[in-house]
Amino acid sequence: MNKGNLFIISGPSGSGKDTVLQKVFSLCPNIKFSISVITRDMRPGETPDGKYRFISREKFEEMIANGELLEHNVFVGNYYGTPKKYVEEQLESGFDCIVEVDVNGAAQIKEKMPDAVSIFICPPSFEVLKSRLSNRGTDSAEAVNKRLEASIGEIKRAKEFDYVVVNDNLEDAVDGFISVIKSQHLKTKNNTSAIDSIVNK
Ligand code: 5GP
Repeated sequence: MNKGNLFIISGPSGSGKDTVLQKVFSLCPNIKFSISVITRDMRPGETPDGKYRFISREKFEEMIANGELLEHNVFVGNYYGTPKKYVEEQLESGFDCIVEVDVNGAAQIKEKMPDAVSIFICPPSFEVLKSRLSNRGTDSAEAVNKRLEASIGEIKRAKEFDYVVVNDNLEDAVDGFISVIKSQHLKTKNNTSAIDSIVNK
């Protein structure tokens, strides 16, 4: 059995990344999602059993000290991190795994795991980005501006990624994303078990 593939996904707040990911998971149910640990407050509409585990700063710092995180970063004043064990277990068991992180987290993972495939989800324009951030209605104007600034900062680093998916039309974005996954499956290194099982008969 070949190991699973790790896909690192980044995209600024307002890129529509969550919607793209939800659709990808509904179409590719075997891909595992790495749940992040974070220290920010839960937003309206979020639940404790969703895409994040909400933990205290003390607990987060303990996880850093114990080497339990594959990467971590401070984003708009809060810690965000990827627990290492879950990701390693999925890959070892042959499952593909998606980690959704900011650009700093993506760079940290890529350095430790150069075989990981990184995908940046990008909004189609500044105007669309701004309007998506303002229309969420869950944050204050100050928070929206902070996120807009952070988003532009992230887009400046999009060129560090292996692939860029521009999310103008959801269907096309999902299609592009799944093409990357499929082409990764066709890589020779992901088919050595099939080859060996024939050659070694
Ligand atoms: P939000 O607070 O809007 O849900 O997320 C803020 C940013 O943190 C987004 O760019 C999101 O991709 C990123 N993020 C989510 N989970 C992680 C993580 O585990 N590690 C890092 N470095 N960033 C994360």
